[in-house]
Amino acid sequence: MKTKEIIETGSKYVMNTYGRLPMALVEGKGVKVWDAEGKEYLDFVAGLAVNSLGHSHPRVVKAIWRQANTLMHVSNLYHIEPQVELAKLLVENSCADKVFFCNSGAEANEAAIKLARKHAKMKLGQDKFEIITAKQSFHGRTLAAITATGQPKYQQGFEPLPPGFKYVPFNDLEALEKAVGPNTCAVMLEPIQGEGGVNPAGREYLKGVAQICKDKNLLLIFDEVQCGLGRTGKFLAYQLYGVEPDIFTLAKALGNGFPIGAMLAKDEVAHSFQPGDHASTFGGNPLAAAAALATMQVMLHEGVIENAAQMGEYLKNKLGQLAERHSKIKEIRGAGLMLGAELSGPGAEVVNRCREKGLLINCVNNTVLRFLPPLTVTQREIDTAVDILDKALEG
Ligand SMILES: *Cc1c(COP(=O)(O)O)cnc(C)c1O
Repeated sequence: MKTKEIIETGSKYVMNTYGRLPMALVEGKGVKVWDAEGKEYLDFVAGLAVNSLGHSHPRVVKAIWRQANTLMHVSNLYHIEPQVELAKLLVENSCADKVFFCNSGAEANEAAIKLARKHAKMKLGQDKFEIITAKQSFHGRTLAAITATGQPKYQQGFEPLPPGFKYVPFNDLEALEKAVGPNTCAVMLEPIQGEGGVNPAGREYLKGVAQICKDKNLLLIFDEVQCGLGRTGKFLAYQLYGVEPDIFTLAKALGNGFPIGAMLAKDEVAHSFQPGDHASTFGGNPLAAAAALATMQVMLHEGVIENAAQMGEYLKNKLGQLAERHSKIKEIRGAGLMLGAELSGPGAEVVNRCREKGLLINCVNNTVLRFLPPLTVTQREIDTAVDILDKALEG
């Protein structure tokens, strides 16, 4: 099908929940993707921080192919070899002791919310259920996840929302301290907010949050669905801050495009889930786990994270140089290859002009251009992307 036919068929048969751009991508390799007309793009969206090893990474493709030929799915009523190998690898490379597998970021956060409540009710009393989250946060689209999300635009029209959530301004320690009440059981934050505009937590802030949680017996939950898994130049974003959560969540890059999510916790907390408390039919199934295992092995053992740190610095510097010449750019922020350029006005036109010239980026919070290339991106690809952006900013 050509682009026109794909778009027409989609508008007839697919529910209209996305403000889609008038294009269809049909192939990808590394940092490059091609649309249905054969036009080539540099992909600095990467499935929204999903294709971190680049499109169709051969090791991941091979793992999926082999596992699909061996065993695609069995129930979690049985032990699953690739799932336990993946859990071992994640635990050995993080502060967590146990992993629960699911299929998406929202599901991982649902699991985190359930575990936090179960743990608090068992350990601290039935009245401990409230979770404090940040304004401008994003935690996914299920009812509990949109309620945890501190942005009214994701909640409007879906009321009544589940009770037990409270919002505080991000990076404001005093506001958090004041918000803690007799029912509070946990604080849930993204170390670097993604959809809210690429807003990094301050170092002192995150350390202060951890101290408050310790002093007041609250669980600290990090949503690392976007900022985790090498994106910031560390395997996990909390490692940038020297602050360890009790629970954290992963999804996006975990399977390099194969859907899989995970909720991880320290033993003391993980013990509060007993058989029957939580489950997922597909969570950690053999095919998803094999894809994620191959993805994580490449990420951890083939210099991918080191490249993300180096190329992140390189891209940040180049964007900084652009900001000196284009007064439209107000600020460059973020870490590693999770970078944002705040503009003085809406960014949609710049995104469109980049796309016409062969670069895919997106815009969050109306004015922030976001850059999330595969972590395998090269200096040359960054040079090309920044040249395109330079021209797009001129108009
Ligand atoms: C994308 C995202 C989610 C939701 O993930 P889904 O897989 O779309 O459910 C949750 N939290 C953060 C920080 C995200 O960026």
